[in-house]
Amino acid sequence: MPEMPELEALRQVLGPQLEGALVTACEVAPRKAHLLRYPVEEFEKEVPYRRFTRTWRRGKHLVFDLELARGGEGRSLVVNPMLGGRFDLAAGDEKVSGNQVFSLRLEGARELRYLDFRDMGRIYWTADLKKDVPAWADLGPEADQVGELSLDDFRKRLRRYRDELKDLLRNQAFLAGVGNAYSDEILFEARLLPLRRRSSLKPDEEQSLYEAIPTVLERAVKAILANPDYDESKQDRKFMNVHAKGGQSCPRCGHRISQLGSNREPLNFCRGCQK
Ligand SMILES: [Zn+2]
Repeated sequence: MPEMPELEALRQVLGPQLEGALVTACEVAPRKAHLLRYPVEEFEKEVPYRRFTRTWRRGKHLVFDLELARGGEGRSLVVNPMLGGRFDLAAGDEKVSGNQVFSLRLEGARELRYLDFRDMGRIYWTADLKKDVPAWADLGPEADQVGELSLDDFRKRLRRYRDELKDLLRNQAFLAGVGNAYSDEILFEARLLPLRRRSSLKPDEEQSLYEAIPTVLERAVKAILANPDYDESKQDRKFMNVHAKGGQSCPRCGHRISQLGSNREPLNFCRGCQK
């Protein structure tokens, strides 16, 4: 599931290529049309003849702002890829995947394609994000921007919650952008066990968490973009320390990495060096 670092890398790669591009046609695959939270025929009619003006991210949503060439109301295409959504900026004559949900044909014979392997993604076409995208108004600060909060403000925010740390980090109202994979990585970095309750944290452990969140996320964005085989339609997480590495040796202490949950959505941590 793409989380903040994958979407941020995507934004940095796609954004400059899309800026100013005119959409000349829009097509939704009928058997995937249910992923679009908007009437399909109107979507296919309303998107063309607009230009991409800005590509940005909020939590686990990627947002494309599109303006009509002749002015008028700007609209946003919002995609929350959930477990199996991927983007592909393809040459228009490249073979179309059976998982394609929609394609936007762009001037210059290119296409922005959205594929979904699990059919769980959600796509919105809106002029009012708060109204049309569920829970948008409740999103907390961006997780990679935690450093902009003072440690005291972070502590205050943290202390509103009573959850286990794993659940807390995935709560988009606490901080936006972290999911199952990066919560494991952040807790490994902070040397905290995922099932500990927030209320059990000592002040120095709160500080470790505060520091680990942006460290892990920024490092991940860099690792993703530094991958020479970077492909926006694939997800490569070899750089991770514990997530999806159950049974392997901990890179910090050599202890065997533990796993709870399914292989599809594992929870991984090291009992050797996380407390
Ligand atoms: Zn360890």
